[in-house]
Amino acid sequence: MSQTLFEKIIAREIPADIVYEDDLVIAFRDINPQAPTHVLVIPKKVIPRIALSDDSDQSLLGHLLLKARAIAADLGLAENGYRLVINNGRDGGESVPHLHCHILGGRPLEWPPG
Ligand code: 5GP
Repeated sequence: MSQTLFEKIIAREIPADIVYEDDLVIAFRDINPQAPTHVLVIPKKVIPRIALSDDSDQSLLGHLLLKARAIAADLGLAENGYRLVINNGRDGGESVPHLHCHILGGRPLEWPPG
């Protein structure tokens, strides 16, 4: 199967502005930011979307969320707040089939989303 864009970022085949990395996850700035701070946190394990995760991913998904919290704090978003978003499938607005959690912050965000 061909590699997704994000697998190529993990493999350093495509450049990205990486803000955090460990054995399980990597985080990098979105190429088309929707807020002053827009970072994607992704598992290195290939999970196309949250709907295709399973119970064996419990600790990985917990790690991903806790790292999103830590990265948001490191980027100075903790005081004013931020939004974590996981788009799933066509109606969810998913465009890259590799699970990713958006961190959006640095401005007030509206609700509901469009
Ligand atoms: P989705 O729409 O699937 O939830 O989010 C995919 C995100 O990946 C989008 O916000 C899009 O701007 C971002 N993106 C797409 N291609 C690239 C790329 O080559 N590099 C980076 N850093 N982000 C990308």
